[in-house]
Amino acid sequence: MTLRPDAAQPGTPVILGVPFDANSSWLRGAAGAPPIIRVALNSISSNLWTETAVDLGSRGAFCDAGDLKFTFDEPFAAIENKIGELLDRNLRPVCLGGDHSITLPIVRAFGQRIPGLTIFHFDAHPDLYDELEGNRLSHACPFARIMEEGAAKRLIQIGIRTMTGHQREQAQKFGVEVIEMRQLPALDRMKVDGPVYISFDMDALDPAFAPGISHREPGGMSVREAIAHLHAITGRIAGADIVEFNPAQDTTQITATVAAKLLKEILGKMILN
Ligand code: MN
Ligand code: MN
Repeated sequence: MTLRPDAAQPGTPVILGVPFDANSSWLRGAAGAPPIIRVALNSISSNLWTETAVDLGSRGAFCDAGDLKFTFDEPFAAIENKIGELLDRNLRPVCLGGDHSITLPIVRAFGQRIPGLTIFHFDAHPDLYDELEGNRLSHACPFARIMEEGAAKRLIQIGIRTMTGHQREQAQKFGVEVIEMRQLPALDRMKVDGPVYISFDMDALDPAFAPGISHREPGGMSVREAIAHLHAITGRIAGADIVEFNPAQDTTQITATVAAKLLKEILGKMILN
């Protein structure tokens, strides 16, 4: 049985599902991801040991805060408040999206409490649009807002392969360190000091490995390349998210298994670092 957050030691990673996809510009469905990732994580087809020799099945290794319930609050305020609450209890949130717009309120809560944050952003897309179809909170925009607000010190993007002229200008304006897909491997560039946040958009992976996403962009990472770059990250990982898994597109359930694998390796790194 998974530990509840109130029984966890300080520093414990805590899973939080964020079933929200109203800022998707193309297909809905990512809101259905969190419970499906949990099922894949706990499937007896595998085990809970990470490749880095961490046993996630040991008592207290991580805890689970369940899925965020959206009630009366404005959704972004609800997300930011919940993350703030978990951080104030000295836990390390790992959110399961949801579309990528949720990273903005999550990182807002981090930025207020943890100065000098470096974000590693895995994605096919830079998500730096000033606005998309009139929506400044679109899943195509979160990293423009994060950098405008100064919620993170450094933004390192990896796996990018859909840059537009506008987004190149935005990256330059905000000092974003972009590692394009064609520049991989870039293991040395994963070495940083200070607190780290990992934002993993599942479409960073090649759609051949992870077709259960809304925006299939060929020419992406293999699962092995993604894990190698995650394993190469130095610095203390303060939190993470895995977003944009869309179960409605995942006809063979392979993407659920891949998301759970990445979740395991991220949790393992958090416990080790
Ligand atoms: Mn994204
Ligand atoms: Mn993307």
